[in-house]
Amino acid sequence: MAEIIDGKAIAAEIREEIGKDTADLVARGVTPGLAVVLVGEDPASRVYVSMKEKACAAAGIFSDEYKLPAETGEAELLELIVRLNADERIDGILVQLPLPDHIDESKVLETISPRKDVDGFHPYNVGRLATGNPLFRPCTPYGVMKMLERIGVDLKGKEVVVVGRSNIVGKPVALMCLAAHATVTICHSRTRDLPAKVAAADVVIAAVGVPEMIKGSWIKEGAVVIDVGVNRVGEKRLVGDVDFVAASERAAAITPVPGGVGPMTITMLLYNTVVSATRRAEKCR
Ligand code: NDP
Repeated sequence: MAEIIDGKAIAAEIREEIGKDTADLVARGVTPGLAVVLVGEDPASRVYVSMKEKACAAAGIFSDEYKLPAETGEAELLELIVRLNADERIDGILVQLPLPDHIDESKVLETISPRKDVDGFHPYNVGRLATGNPLFRPCTPYGVMKMLERIGVDLKGKEVVVVGRSNIVGKPVALMCLAAHATVTICHSRTRDLPAKVAAADVVIAAVGVPEMIKGSWIKEGAVVIDVGVNRVGEKRLVGDVDFVAASERAAAITPVPGGVGPMTITMLLYNTVVSATRRAEKCR
């Protein structure tokens, strides 16, 4: 039976460390600051933004919120970002996605200063990650890496199979595993014989968005399984991309959904913000 990787406990441990680092920075006269920008009324985005605000408050991070109406023009949003780029109190800028259709998302993300891009989505940061010299790493994949580190998985020489190639999870997590000296295979919707690819993996990272599509019988005995997927099934049930019950029979360790990777994302946002504030304190931002 697999060890269940307790994402909540790992996230709580890291948040405690972040709280201490924040207190040290405050004592040096630098309060870490995160600007959170939300455009429109999307209910899920509102929930995410309020979770981020609460997490900031709990860690002692100053959060500056901008809740703009859905009809806000692109130029107005870009002006706000330019102001926040210049605002010394702000170490991180987060624009909650998705944006309304009339706003060009990539233009907005590219306007955020790469030195305040705590989501790690700016092409500059993507390039820094790809060239092995990261400045900010995207939060969900970074959370996956921290989780593996905390449970003592050394990726050196391991076969890692990432299922999913999105810009926010699959591709960056694959780059991070490569940087940690794993041999990485990236699978996607056109991959032939996915079960065989997964069966060869020492570590499986699933970021697909299809409920329980990775079957327990595909998992190699003793593999580590990280399930990034969050899929709503019916009214209330949340499941991952991996058939958890069957996979637990074969894996050495596995993340549950919920309570696995989920709590790590906001934690790494706080982490990146504090790293940025530390750079400000050391005058090297
Ligand atoms: P995307 O929809 O952007 O990407 C999904 C990827 O899965 C694509 O690369 C796609 O391939 C691939 N895929 C789809 N179907 C199959 C299939 N049948 N076989 C193999 N590959 C397939 O999703 P995201 O990366 O944004 O998110 C993935 C999951 O992670 C979702 O459940 C999402 O909710 C969750 N998530 C959780 C977060 C958290 O816990 N904090 C944060 C972000 C995401 P192709 O490229 O060929 O289309």
